[in-house]
Amino acid sequence: MQMLTYKIVTFGCQMNLADSGILSAILESRGFKGVESEKEADLIILNTCSVRQKAEERVFGRLGELSALKRDNPDKKLAVVGCMAQRLGQSLLDRAPYVDFVLGTDRLFDLPQYIGEQNGAPLIHTEFGHENIDIDLPARDSKCSAFVTISRGCDNFCTYCIVPYVRGRERSYPVSDLVQQVRSLVEDGVLEVTFLGQNVNSYRDGERDFSDLLRTVAEETGIKRIRFMTSHPKDLSDRLIDTIAAVPEMMPHLHLPLQSGSERILKKMGRVYTYSHYRNLVRRLREAVGEISLTTDLIVGFPSETEDEFRMTLDAVREIGFDSAFMFRYSVREGTAAAQYNDDVSETGKIRRLTELISLQKNISFEKNQCEIGREHSVLVDGVSRRDESVLKGKTGGNKTLLFKADKKYIGTIQQVKVTAADSWTLHGELLG
Ligand code: SF4
Repeated sequence: MQMLTYKIVTFGCQMNLADSGILSAILESRGFKGVESEKEADLIILNTCSVRQKAEERVFGRLGELSALKRDNPDKKLAVVGCMAQRLGQSLLDRAPYVDFVLGTDRLFDLPQYIGEQNGAPLIHTEFGHENIDIDLPARDSKCSAFVTISRGCDNFCTYCIVPYVRGRERSYPVSDLVQQVRSLVEDGVLEVTFLGQNVNSYRDGERDFSDLLRTVAEETGIKRIRFMTSHPKDLSDRLIDTIAAVPEMMPHLHLPLQSGSERILKKMGRVYTYSHYRNLVRRLREAVGEISLTTDLIVGFPSETEDEFRMTLDAVREIGFDSAFMFRYSVREGTAAAQYNDDVSETGKIRRLTELISLQKNISFEKNQCEIGREHSVLVDGVSRRDESVLKGKTGGNKTLLFKADKKYIGTIQQVKVTAADSWTLHGELLG
Protein backbone atom coordinates (compact mmCIF):
# COMPACT_ATOMS: atom_id res chain seq x y z
CA MET A 1 0.00 0.00 0.00
CA GLN A 2 1.32 3.43 -0.88
CA MET A 3 0.88 5.73 2.06
CA LEU A 4 2.02 9.30 2.00
CA THR A 5 0.37 11.48 4.58
CA TYR A 6 0.00 11.16 8.34
CA LYS A 7 -1.44 12.99 11.31
CA ILE A 8 -0.46 12.31 14.94
CA VAL A 9 -2.86 13.28 17.73
CA THR A 10 -1.13 13.28 21.13
CA PHE A 11 -2.84 12.78 24.48
CA GLY A 12 -1.20 13.07 27.90
CA CYS A 13 2.20 14.10 29.15
CA GLN A 14 5.38 15.59 27.71
CA MET A 15 6.88 12.12 27.31
CA ASN A 16 4.09 11.39 24.86
CA LEU A 17 4.74 14.68 23.09
CA ALA A 18 8.40 13.74 22.84
CA ASP A 19 7.53 10.26 21.53
CA SER A 20 5.19 11.80 18.95
CA GLY A 21 8.06 14.05 17.85
CA ILE A 22 10.35 11.04 17.40
CA LEU A 23 7.66 9.04 15.58
CA SER A 24 7.00 12.00 13.33
CA ALA A 25 10.72 12.26 12.49
CA ILE A 26 10.85 8.50 11.77
CA LEU A 27 7.84 8.74 9.44
CA GLU A 28 9.28 11.78 7.63
CA SER A 29 12.56 9.92 7.15
CA ARG A 30 10.56 7.15 5.44
CA GLY A 31 8.87 9.54 3.01
CA PHE A 32 5.65 10.30 4.90
CA LYS A 33 4.36 13.86 4.98
CA GLY A 34 2.63 15.42 7.96
CA VAL A 35 -0.79 17.05 7.35
CA GLU A 36 -2.96 19.29 9.49
CA SER A 37 -6.20 17.31 9.67
CA GLU A 38 -7.20 13.70 10.17
CA LYS A 39 -9.42 14.01 7.11
CA GLU A 40 -6.46 14.57 4.79
CA ALA A 41 -4.30 11.87 6.37
CA ASP A 42 -3.76 8.38 4.95
CA LEU A 43 -2.47 7.32 8.36
CA ILE A 44 -3.96 8.63 11.62
CA ILE A 45 -2.07 7.90 14.83
CA LEU A 46 -3.47 8.44 18.32
CA ASN A 47 -0.62 8.49 20.86
CA THR A 48 -2.49 7.79 24.06
CA CYS A 49 -2.44 8.22 27.83
CA SER A 50 -3.67 5.81 30.50
CA VAL A 51 -3.02 7.81 33.64
CA ARG A 52 -6.72 8.54 34.20
CA GLN A 53 -9.89 6.84 33.04
CA LYS A 54 -11.03 10.17 31.59
CA ALA A 55 -7.98 10.28 29.30
CA GLU A 56 -8.90 6.85 27.91
CA GLU A 57 -12.54 7.83 27.42
CA ARG A 58 -11.39 10.86 25.41
CA VAL A 59 -9.45 8.55 23.11
CA PHE A 60 -12.48 6.29 22.62
CA GLY A 61 -14.54 9.43 21.90
CA ARG A 62 -12.05 10.47 19.24
CA LEU A 63 -11.97 6.94 17.81
CA GLY A 64 -15.76 7.06 17.49
CA GLU A 65 -15.47 10.24 15.40
CA LEU A 66 -12.68 8.76 13.28
CA SER A 67 -14.67 5.59 12.54
CA ALA A 68 -16.83 7.65 10.16
CA LEU A 69 -13.71 8.67 8.18
CA LYS A 70 -12.62 5.07 8.07
CA ARG A 71 -16.08 3.99 6.85
CA ASP A 72 -15.92 6.55 4.03
CA ASN A 73 -12.40 5.50 3.11
CA PRO A 74 -11.47 1.97 4.22
CA ASP A 75 -7.91 2.47 2.87
CA LYS A 76 -7.23 5.00 5.59
CA LYS A 77 -5.16 3.41 8.38
CA LEU A 78 -5.80 4.04 12.04
CA ALA A 79 -3.16 3.37 14.71
CA VAL A 80 -3.57 3.57 18.49
CA VAL A 81 -0.15 3.66 20.14
CA GLY A 82 1.38 4.27 23.58
CA CYS A 83 0.10 3.69 27.10
CA MET A 84 -3.53 2.87 26.38
CA ALA A 85 -2.59 0.50 23.57
CA GLN A 86 -0.19 -1.18 26.00
CA ARG A 87 -2.78 -1.47 28.76
CA LEU A 88 -5.76 -2.61 26.70
CA GLY A 89 -4.21 -4.60 23.82
CA GLN A 90 -6.87 -6.86 22.30
CA SER A 91 -9.67 -5.36 24.39
CA LEU A 92 -9.11 -2.04 22.61
CA LEU A 93 -9.91 -3.82 19.35
CA ASP A 94 -12.99 -5.42 20.92
CA ARG A 95 -14.35 -1.93 21.47
CA ALA A 96 -12.98 -0.32 18.29
CA PRO A 97 -12.58 -3.14 15.71
CA TYR A 98 -11.89 -0.71 12.88
CA VAL A 99 -8.44 0.17 14.34
CA ASP A 100 -5.57 -1.22 12.21
CA PHE A 101 -2.61 -1.05 14.62
CA VAL A 102 -2.42 -1.34 18.41
CA LEU A 103 1.20 -0.65 19.38
CA GLY A 104 2.44 -0.49 22.97
CA THR A 105 4.95 1.85 24.53
CA ASP A 106 8.04 -0.05 23.33
CA ARG A 107 6.64 -0.73 19.84
CA LEU A 108 5.30 2.53 18.48
CA PHE A 109 8.53 3.50 16.73
CA ASP A 110 8.28 0.34 14.61
CA LEU A 111 5.02 1.52 13.03
CA PRO A 112 6.50 1.95 9.50
CA GLN A 113 7.71 -1.67 9.59
CA TYR A 114 4.29 -2.93 10.73
CA ILE A 115 2.59 -0.98 7.94
CA GLY A 116 4.66 -3.04 5.48
CA GLU A 117 3.69 -6.28 7.23
CA GLN A 118 -0.04 -5.71 7.56
CA ASN A 119 -2.22 -7.73 5.24
CA GLY A 120 -5.65 -6.41 6.18
CA ALA A 121 -6.07 -7.84 9.67
CA PRO A 122 -5.36 -5.58 12.65
CA LEU A 123 -1.90 -5.92 14.22
CA ILE A 124 -1.29 -5.85 17.96
CA HIS A 125 2.23 -5.52 19.41
CA THR A 126 2.66 -4.82 23.10
CA GLU A 127 5.86 -6.73 23.90
CA PHE A 128 8.31 -4.89 26.15
CA GLY A 129 12.05 -4.77 25.70
CA HIS A 130 12.51 -3.55 22.19
CA GLU A 131 13.04 0.07 21.23
CA ASN A 132 14.22 1.00 17.84
CA ILE A 133 14.98 4.68 18.24
CA ASP A 134 17.37 6.53 16.04
CA ILE A 135 18.94 8.75 18.67
CA ASP A 136 19.75 11.44 16.09
CA LEU A 137 16.10 12.18 15.45
CA PRO A 138 15.10 15.31 17.34
CA ALA A 139 11.83 15.64 19.23
CA ARG A 140 11.18 19.36 18.95
CA ASP A 141 8.97 21.49 21.13
CA SER A 142 9.75 24.59 19.07
CA LYS A 143 12.60 25.77 16.83
CA CYS A 144 14.71 26.67 19.84
CA SER A 145 13.82 24.02 22.43
CA ALA A 146 13.61 20.24 22.41
CA PHE A 147 12.61 17.36 24.61
CA VAL A 148 15.15 14.59 25.10
CA THR A 149 13.98 11.36 26.68
CA ILE A 150 16.79 10.08 28.92
CA SER A 151 15.04 7.12 30.52
CA ARG A 152 11.89 5.09 30.12
CA GLY A 153 9.67 3.16 32.49
CA CYS A 154 9.41 3.30 36.27
CA ASP A 155 10.23 0.94 39.14
CA ASN A 156 8.44 2.84 41.88
CA PHE A 157 4.93 1.38 41.77
CA CYS A 158 3.17 4.22 43.59
CA THR A 159 -0.07 2.52 44.52
CA TYR A 160 -2.34 4.78 42.40
CA CYS A 161 -0.22 4.80 39.25
CA ILE A 162 -0.57 2.71 36.09
CA VAL A 163 2.71 3.92 34.54
CA PRO A 164 5.01 1.05 35.69
CA TYR A 165 2.53 -1.42 34.13
CA VAL A 166 2.25 0.38 30.78
CA ARG A 167 5.81 1.70 30.42
CA GLY A 168 7.68 -1.23 31.93
CA ARG A 169 10.84 -1.29 34.05
CA GLU A 170 13.10 1.71 34.22
CA ARG A 171 16.01 1.85 31.78
CA SER A 172 18.32 4.73 30.88
CA TYR A 173 19.96 5.72 27.62
CA PRO A 174 23.79 5.95 27.65
CA VAL A 175 25.39 9.32 28.51
CA SER A 176 27.39 9.23 25.26
CA ASP A 177 24.22 8.87 23.11
CA LEU A 178 22.48 11.69 24.96
CA VAL A 179 25.50 13.99 24.64
CA GLN A 180 25.55 13.24 20.92
CA GLN A 181 21.84 13.97 20.62
CA VAL A 182 22.14 17.31 22.43
CA ARG A 183 25.17 18.25 20.28
CA SER A 184 23.13 17.66 17.11
CA LEU A 185 20.29 19.75 18.49
CA VAL A 186 22.69 22.59 19.35
CA GLU A 187 24.12 22.47 15.82
CA ASP A 188 20.54 22.78 14.63
CA GLY A 189 19.94 25.97 16.63
CA VAL A 190 18.36 24.53 19.78
CA LEU A 191 19.10 26.62 22.90
CA GLU A 192 17.22 24.66 25.55
CA VAL A 193 16.69 20.96 26.22
CA THR A 194 14.30 19.39 28.68
CA PHE A 195 15.38 15.94 29.81
CA LEU A 196 12.40 13.68 30.25
CA GLY A 197 11.81 10.51 32.20
CA GLN A 198 9.26 9.14 34.62
CA ASN A 199 11.84 9.62 37.34
CA VAL A 200 14.92 11.35 35.93
CA ASN A 201 16.65 11.49 39.33
CA SER A 202 17.24 7.75 39.28
CA TYR A 203 18.93 7.91 35.85
CA ARG A 204 21.97 5.66 35.74
CA ASP A 205 24.52 4.70 33.10
CA GLY A 206 26.97 2.33 34.79
CA GLU A 207 28.76 4.36 37.46
CA ARG A 208 27.34 7.65 36.20
CA ASP A 209 24.22 9.15 37.71
CA PHE A 210 21.89 11.99 36.75
CA SER A 211 24.23 14.69 38.12
CA ASP A 212 27.03 13.30 35.95
CA LEU A 213 24.76 13.42 32.91
CA LEU A 214 23.78 17.05 33.58
CA ARG A 215 27.38 18.15 34.15
CA THR A 216 28.67 16.30 31.06
CA VAL A 217 25.97 17.73 28.80
CA ALA A 218 26.58 21.25 30.14
CA GLU A 219 30.35 20.94 29.64
CA GLU A 220 30.47 19.14 26.30
CA THR A 221 27.60 20.29 24.11
CA GLY A 222 27.35 24.10 24.17
CA ILE A 223 23.65 23.96 25.14
CA LYS A 224 22.52 27.19 26.80
CA ARG A 225 19.71 25.98 29.06
CA ILE A 226 18.87 22.61 30.63
CA ARG A 227 15.67 21.54 32.39
CA PHE A 228 14.31 18.18 33.46
CA MET A 229 11.19 16.48 34.65
CA THR A 230 9.84 14.55 36.51
CA SER A 231 11.69 14.09 39.79
CA HIS A 232 10.89 11.80 42.69
CA PRO A 233 11.61 13.31 46.14
CA LYS A 234 13.21 10.06 47.33
CA ASP A 235 15.92 10.36 44.66
CA LEU A 236 16.67 14.07 44.93
CA SER A 237 20.20 13.81 46.31
CA ASP A 238 22.43 16.52 47.81
CA ARG A 239 24.71 15.97 44.84
CA LEU A 240 21.89 16.79 42.43
CA ILE A 241 20.95 19.89 44.43
CA ASP A 242 24.60 21.00 44.26
CA THR A 243 24.61 20.41 40.51
CA ILE A 244 21.49 22.52 40.01
CA ALA A 245 23.14 25.25 42.09
CA ALA A 246 26.59 25.07 40.50
CA VAL A 247 25.98 24.50 36.79
CA PRO A 248 25.04 27.81 35.10
CA GLU A 249 23.14 26.08 32.31
CA MET A 250 20.69 24.56 34.82
CA MET A 251 17.46 26.54 34.91
CA PRO A 252 16.14 27.48 38.38
CA HIS A 253 13.00 25.37 38.21
CA LEU A 254 12.13 22.05 39.76
CA HIS A 255 8.97 20.02 39.30
CA LEU A 256 8.83 17.90 42.44
CA PRO A 257 5.57 15.98 42.91
CA LEU A 258 4.37 16.08 46.53
CA GLN A 259 0.96 14.37 46.02
CA SER A 260 -0.23 14.81 49.63
CA GLY A 261 0.66 16.67 52.82
CA SER A 262 -0.43 13.77 55.04
CA GLU A 263 2.21 11.26 56.18
CA ARG A 264 -0.39 8.48 56.38
CA ILE A 265 -1.71 9.12 52.87
CA LEU A 266 1.82 9.39 51.45
CA LYS A 267 2.56 5.99 52.95
CA LYS A 268 -0.64 4.53 51.54
CA MET A 269 0.29 5.99 48.16
CA GLY A 270 3.63 4.13 48.36
CA ARG A 271 5.56 7.36 47.92
CA VAL A 272 8.29 6.26 50.42
CA TYR A 273 9.07 9.77 51.72
CA THR A 274 7.50 11.81 54.46
CA TYR A 275 6.26 15.36 54.25
CA SER A 276 9.04 16.44 56.60
CA HIS A 277 11.61 14.93 54.23
CA TYR A 278 10.01 16.85 51.36
CA ARG A 279 10.04 20.08 53.36
CA ASN A 280 13.74 19.56 54.13
CA LEU A 281 14.53 19.06 50.46
CA VAL A 282 12.83 22.34 49.64
CA ARG A 283 14.79 24.11 52.39
CA ARG A 284 18.08 22.70 51.09
CA LEU A 285 17.20 23.60 47.52
CA ARG A 286 16.37 27.16 48.46
CA GLU A 287 19.55 27.47 50.53
CA ALA A 288 21.70 26.13 47.70
CA VAL A 289 20.06 27.66 44.63
CA GLY A 290 18.41 30.77 46.07
CA GLU A 291 15.49 31.77 43.83
CA ILE A 292 14.04 28.58 42.42
CA SER A 293 10.62 28.07 40.95
CA LEU A 294 8.88 25.03 42.45
CA THR A 295 5.98 23.22 40.87
CA THR A 296 4.26 20.04 41.95
CA ASP A 297 1.52 17.42 41.48
CA LEU A 298 -1.21 16.93 44.07
CA ILE A 299 -3.98 14.36 44.43
CA VAL A 300 -7.06 14.89 46.61
CA GLY A 301 -9.62 12.31 47.71
CA PHE A 302 -7.23 9.33 47.81
CA PRO A 303 -8.98 6.32 49.44
CA SER A 304 -9.60 6.93 53.17
CA GLU A 305 -8.30 10.55 53.04
CA THR A 306 -10.05 12.35 55.90
CA GLU A 307 -10.97 16.01 55.96
CA ASP A 308 -8.07 16.64 58.37
CA GLU A 309 -5.64 14.88 56.04
CA PHE A 310 -6.88 16.95 53.12
CA ARG A 311 -6.29 20.08 55.27
CA MET A 312 -2.67 18.87 55.75
CA THR A 313 -2.28 19.10 51.97
CA LEU A 314 -3.64 22.65 52.04
CA ASP A 315 -1.21 23.48 54.88
CA ALA A 316 1.70 22.00 52.91
CA VAL A 317 0.77 24.03 49.84
CA ARG A 318 0.71 27.20 51.97
CA GLU A 319 3.98 26.35 53.70
CA ILE A 320 5.98 25.46 50.57
CA GLY A 321 4.48 28.17 48.38
CA PHE A 322 4.51 26.41 45.02
CA ASP A 323 4.67 28.57 41.92
CA SER A 324 2.07 26.35 40.30
CA ALA A 325 0.67 22.84 40.56
CA PHE A 326 -1.08 20.13 38.61
CA MET A 327 -4.00 19.15 40.81
CA PHE A 328 -6.23 16.12 40.40
CA ARG A 329 -8.95 14.24 42.20
CA TYR A 330 -8.18 10.58 42.72
CA SER A 331 -9.63 8.15 40.21
CA VAL A 332 -9.25 4.38 40.31
CA ARG A 333 -6.98 2.72 37.76
CA GLU A 334 -7.71 -0.96 37.40
CA GLY A 335 -4.60 -3.07 37.89
CA THR A 336 -2.94 -0.76 40.42
CA ALA A 337 -2.57 -1.60 44.12
CA ALA A 338 -4.85 1.27 45.13
CA ALA A 339 -7.67 -0.25 43.06
CA GLN A 340 -7.98 -2.77 45.94
CA TYR A 341 -8.67 0.06 48.41
CA ASN A 342 -12.16 1.26 49.17
CA ASP A 343 -12.62 4.40 47.04
CA ASP A 344 -14.62 5.93 49.86
CA VAL A 345 -14.34 9.68 49.34
CA SER A 346 -17.51 10.65 47.48
CA GLU A 347 -17.27 12.27 44.06
CA THR A 348 -18.84 15.47 45.41
CA GLY A 349 -16.36 15.41 48.32
CA LYS A 350 -13.45 15.03 45.88
CA ILE A 351 -14.71 17.86 43.70
CA ARG A 352 -15.14 20.16 46.72
CA ARG A 353 -11.62 19.41 47.95
CA LEU A 354 -10.16 19.92 44.50
CA THR A 355 -11.98 23.22 44.04
CA GLU A 356 -10.69 24.46 47.40
CA LEU A 357 -7.14 23.37 46.58
CA ILE A 358 -7.18 24.98 43.13
CA SER A 359 -8.49 28.22 44.60
CA LEU A 360 -5.72 28.28 47.23
CA GLN A 361 -3.00 27.52 44.66
CA LYS A 362 -4.40 30.16 42.30
CA ASN A 363 -4.02 32.80 45.03
CA ILE A 364 -0.48 31.65 45.86
CA SER A 365 0.50 31.70 42.16
CA PHE A 366 -0.96 35.19 41.89
CA GLU A 367 1.01 36.42 44.92
CA LYS A 368 4.22 34.83 43.63
CA ASN A 369 3.76 36.33 40.19
CA GLN A 370 3.04 39.77 41.64
CA CYS A 371 6.50 39.62 43.25
CA GLU A 372 7.94 39.28 39.74
CA ILE A 373 6.78 42.76 38.73
CA GLY A 374 9.79 45.00 38.17
CA ARG A 375 12.20 42.06 37.80
CA GLU A 376 14.23 41.35 34.69
CA HIS A 377 14.45 37.89 33.19
CA SER A 378 16.44 36.14 30.49
CA VAL A 379 13.65 34.78 28.35
CA LEU A 380 13.87 32.11 25.68
CA VAL A 381 11.49 33.47 23.04
CA ASP A 382 9.72 30.48 21.54
CA GLY A 383 6.79 31.85 19.55
CA VAL A 384 3.83 34.20 19.40
CA SER A 385 0.93 34.46 21.82
CA ARG A 386 -2.08 32.37 20.86
CA ARG A 387 -4.37 35.37 21.33
CA ASP A 388 -2.36 38.12 19.66
CA GLU A 389 0.08 37.62 16.78
CA SER A 390 1.92 40.85 17.66
CA VAL A 391 2.79 39.55 21.13
CA LEU A 392 5.74 37.21 21.60
CA LYS A 393 5.87 34.51 24.24
CA GLY A 394 8.84 33.13 26.05
CA LYS A 395 9.92 31.14 29.09
CA THR A 396 11.76 32.55 32.08
CA GLY A 397 14.42 30.50 33.82
CA GLY A 398 11.72 29.57 36.35
CA ASN A 399 9.62 28.18 33.48
CA LYS A 400 6.98 30.90 33.64
CA THR A 401 5.36 32.17 30.46
CA LEU A 402 6.23 35.80 29.79
CA LEU A 403 4.37 37.75 27.07
CA PHE A 404 5.71 40.96 25.54
CA LYS A 405 5.33 43.01 22.36
CA ALA A 406 8.31 42.77 20.01
CA ASP A 407 9.33 41.95 16.48
CA LYS A 408 9.12 38.31 15.43
CA LYS A 409 12.82 38.36 14.59
CA TYR A 410 13.44 37.67 18.30
CA ILE A 411 11.79 34.24 18.13
CA GLY A 412 14.44 31.60 18.75
CA THR A 413 16.68 33.91 20.77
CA ILE A 414 17.25 34.68 24.45
CA GLN A 415 16.25 38.24 25.41
CA GLN A 416 16.14 40.37 28.56
CA VAL A 417 12.55 41.23 29.43
CA LYS A 418 11.25 43.28 32.36
CA VAL A 419 8.02 42.14 34.02
CA THR A 420 5.39 44.89 34.13
CA ALA A 421 2.22 42.97 35.09
CA ALA A 422 1.17 39.50 36.17
CA ASP A 423 -1.83 37.28 36.82
CA SER A 424 -1.95 33.76 38.30
CA TRP A 425 -0.79 32.03 35.13
CA THR A 426 1.21 34.50 33.04
CA LEU A 427 3.72 37.33 33.31
CA HIS A 428 3.57 40.33 30.99
CA GLY A 429 6.55 42.53 30.24
CA GLU A 430 8.58 44.74 27.96
CA LEU A 431 11.70 43.98 25.96
CA LEU A 432 14.80 45.70 27.30
CA GLY A 433 17.07 47.44 24.80
S1 SF4 B 1 7.15 7.56 40.35
FE1 SF4 B 1 5.13 6.84 41.00
S2 SF4 B 1 3.71 8.35 40.08
FE2 SF4 B 1 5.66 8.58 39.00
S3 SF4 B 1 5.48 7.23 37.20
FE3 SF4 B 1 6.49 6.03 38.82
S4 SF4 B 1 4.81 4.95 39.82
FE4 SF4 B 1 3.88 6.62 38.65
